Amino acid sequence: MSLLNYVAINLVETLLRGFPFPCKTGLMKIGNPGRNSPVLLTGNYHLTVERVKRALRETDAYLLVANSRGINVWCSATGGHFTNHDVISVLKTSGIEELVDHRKVILPQLAATGIESRVVQKKTGWKVIWGPVYAKDVPAFVEDKFTKTPEMREVRFPLVQRVEMAAMWAFPFSIIAALITVPFWREAFLPLTVLIWILPVAIFVSLPLYSQWLSPKKRGTSFSKYTIVFDFGRVPLILWGFFMLGLVVYSIMAGVFGWGFISRWGFLSLVIILLISIDLMGSTPIYKSGLHEDRLLKVVLDEGKCKGAGFCEQVCPRNCYEVDKNRHKATMPQAERCVQCGACIVQCPFDALYFESPKGEIIPPETIRKFKLNLMGKRQVSPHVNVGK
Ligand code: SF4
Ligand code: SF4
Repeated sequence: MSLLNYVAINLVETLLRGFPFPCKTGLMKIGNPGRNSPVLLTGNYHLTVERVKRALRETDAYLLVANSRGINVWCSATGGHFTNHDVISVLKTSGIEELVDHRKVILPQLAATGIESRVVQKKTGWKVIWGPVYAKDVPAFVEDKFTKTPEMREVRFPLVQRVEMAAMWAFPFSIIAALITVPFWREAFLPLTVLIWILPVAIFVSLPLYSQWLSPKKRGTSFSKYTIVFDFGRVPLILWGFFMLGLVVYSIMAGVFGWGFISRWGFLSLVIILLISIDLMGSTPIYKSGLHEDRLLKVVLDEGKCKGAGFCEQVCPRNCYEVDKNRHKATMPQAERCVQCGACIVQCPFDALYFESPKGEIIPPETIRKFKLNLMGKRQVSPHVNVGK
């Protein structure tokens, strides 16, 4: 694929990032792979597949594309749309078993929230190796005999990704605004479109300036005791309701503004309110959405059960763990960085990890493996299950 096509795909699919973008599943050859070439696997989100192919363009490898319902790897695995069955299915039906002599498959690390490596190995005989978070690191990872540095394990939110996220929010808003303003309020189209792009870009680009005040345990930004709600909380909408009520009452009593004026300014103020109420933390890979109740959970490590196997360290996208190879024990020196993704709990072979709520309720590993998060960040299950401590 030419660079121009690749850039065009990135541009279009970044603007439409909020929507699934499926591509064909199955087996792809990259370069000129042989019987000992690495086998990589990813979900069938088109942008991801194109980025992986581009990252691997100097490498001879097989790429398996499994059905993740056209959703990116992290969201699909965490939400239960990319499952053990999808991985097992592509391993068994793609014909890869006839093409290579080994049985090692590299999965993207962020799939560890939903794919259970032990189940895949038991059902197929393929050993799962957790690859890097970012496709660009895959060649170095393969070259270095599947060694993953701490940098390769960690999700970050650099400027390019923040701009992409702003575009993902602004584009659908600008389409809706165009559909309403062009037929009914043409002169507002340009200023509103400019505003719709400026606000999210300003919010995401300036994130490092105020990220120290983002509160993972609350919704939004917290300056001492005041919490500014950036996510889709009720407060901005209630304020908008008061504004509209005041505008209507004032217009009727003073007889100044007509219904056309009121509906236009009502629409404009609603767009602004929705934009500044962006689910900021949920749009970043380094915080949990303010809407997600899981943000209040804490990962607990049961030292007695831990055997130091290190799967937790391999899959944690926030580098919370360290494994002491001499004591064969894991520790969590950076526990405060946790984003409650659940990957470590899903992968621990000895069930040494579990979630605990602020009230001391325990959510055991089998619950995390079985029940995935819905879009509102809820596991549709009662957390009152005792792990048997
Ligand atoms: S917590 Fe589990 S995965 Fe992590 S080192 Fe201990 S046994 Fe291994
Ligand atoms: S420690 Fe937190 S961020 Fe790391 S894998 Fe476990 S749940 Fe995810």
